[in-house]
Amino acid sequence: MKRVLIAIMIVAFAAAPTAQDQNARLEAQKKEAARAVDEMAKLAQEMVDSVFSFGELGMQEVETSRYLTAQLEKFGFRVTRGQSGMPTAWVATWGSGKPVIALGSDIDGIPQSSQKPGVAYFDPIIEGAPGHGEGHNTGMPLNIIAAIAVKRIMERDKLPGTIMLWPGVAEELVGSKAWFVRDGMFKDVDVNLFTHVGGNLGVGWGQQGGTGLVSVEYTFEGETAHSAGAPWRGRSALDAVELMSVGWNYRREHLRLSQRSHQVITNGGDQPNVVPRNASIWFYFREIDQPNIKRMWDIGNDIAQGAALMTGTKMTSRILGTAYPRHFNKVVAETMYANIKNVGLPTWTDADQTLAKALQKELGNPEQPGLAVKLGDMGQPTPLERNNGGGSDDIGDISWNMPTVTLSYPANIPGLPGHNWSSGIASATPIAHKGVVAGAKAQAMTILDLLTKPELVKGAWDYFNSVQQKEHKYVPFISKDTPPATHLNKAILDKYREQMRKFYYDPTKFPTYLDQLGIKYPTVRPNTSSQQQ
Ligand SMILES: [Zn+2]
Repeated sequence: MKRVLIAIMIVAFAAAPTAQDQNARLEAQKKEAARAVDEMAKLAQEMVDSVFSFGELGMQEVETSRYLTAQLEKFGFRVTRGQSGMPTAWVATWGSGKPVIALGSDIDGIPQSSQKPGVAYFDPIIEGAPGHGEGHNTGMPLNIIAAIAVKRIMERDKLPGTIMLWPGVAEELVGSKAWFVRDGMFKDVDVNLFTHVGGNLGVGWGQQGGTGLVSVEYTFEGETAHSAGAPWRGRSALDAVELMSVGWNYRREHLRLSQRSHQVITNGGDQPNVVPRNASIWFYFREIDQPNIKRMWDIGNDIAQGAALMTGTKMTSRILGTAYPRHFNKVVAETMYANIKNVGLPTWTDADQTLAKALQKELGNPEQPGLAVKLGDMGQPTPLERNNGGGSDDIGDISWNMPTVTLSYPANIPGLPGHNWSSGIASATPIAHKGVVAGAKAQAMTILDLLTKPELVKGAWDYFNSVQQKEHKYVPFISKDTPPATHLNKAILDKYREQMRKFYYDPTKFPTYLDQLGIKYPTVRPNTSSQQQ
């Protein structure tokens, strides 16, 4: 009896893998994942180029979502659609049990940013049409490649866990993620690994720079009258819109320096001889923390009421989007950064650098540094007192509900103005294709870390609960019945979609989208061609 017990103990001891064995196994799995990603470089290029060619704006990502979910279903992922009442939303999952690792990235484009890729000056595919003037065509292909690579290893090595992919619908309108959080999309998720295009491979932790925001449309209602015959019988909603705009711009001088605010008039009336009965103005109110965003929103409401009083009109308002200031998880960022150092930057060719430098020159950047050739340090927190404001991303809402990081990957040219045709130039070229492959490796390796080391997930939640939430807890700007703004951008796509359809990428006929468009890579202005060999 005693001898049997000893024998069992010896067998059990011999079978239990040591920490060293586990590490060696994990390193081998990471190498395999990187190899698998390299082998899928062609698929990455096809997905990047396809989504680029759809060029769809927020809430209208119909072709994009159809295409990406078809890819995922082909590789065995289960897809559900229409989350939070958004027709272009979806969730794809594979695997079972814990941990649940979510991979997200934005999928929408920018108005008026139609642009031929690989051409280092303004040259639209369709004048006035939308396009990928930020590079959001690359992030979801990166996640899909990483997920497929990890899935194969999970299947073979019988690793428990679930991989979930979800799209940042309408990020440019900050129109989806707070709704996804509210409606429970992430309720079982342990860690969210978000990806966003950038000029380098990197990740950071802690309170981020930039802002959060509320996006609010104010609508005024007056009364029509003959503008010349009986103007005294009308009340102009457009007057209210203009007065609100003027009022806000005066008040802006007396707001904190960290704020950003901007506006467009979405309805300015019908025709001059009819006093405008309806008119609308749409604001983004940005600040660096939740209480100050709320304060700006309150001031906006006061000014809107003042404009209604001045003009004898009625005012209503509606929130169209919201983004929380971002806070990223230290444990997950450190894990990811170690993998980033392993992966390193892609090898750029002379053609890649020629395109980058020619575009930087075109945009008046005197230094023309080209593409990144050195990894940056890991991003550190930006304390509120040193945050001078800037852009926003509704990943902030997710980052205050679970451990989250954003992997930045080098699929774009550094030093561009953003939200502009120039940010689409690299987005369907070898720069984007290689940037996505590098990012997918770092993403896949980090998923493997999280799947195989439960202490990392626990540590991430310890940081989230005890450090991040020590002084602030999430206060959403939307209520339980705020509807998503699914009507946005419909008119623009109705106007351009049929023209754009002719330029959708067909990978069965052309090796790359550059080939389909007949673009020589790179195409630069003749006076910069001396930079080529
Ligand atoms: Zn973005």
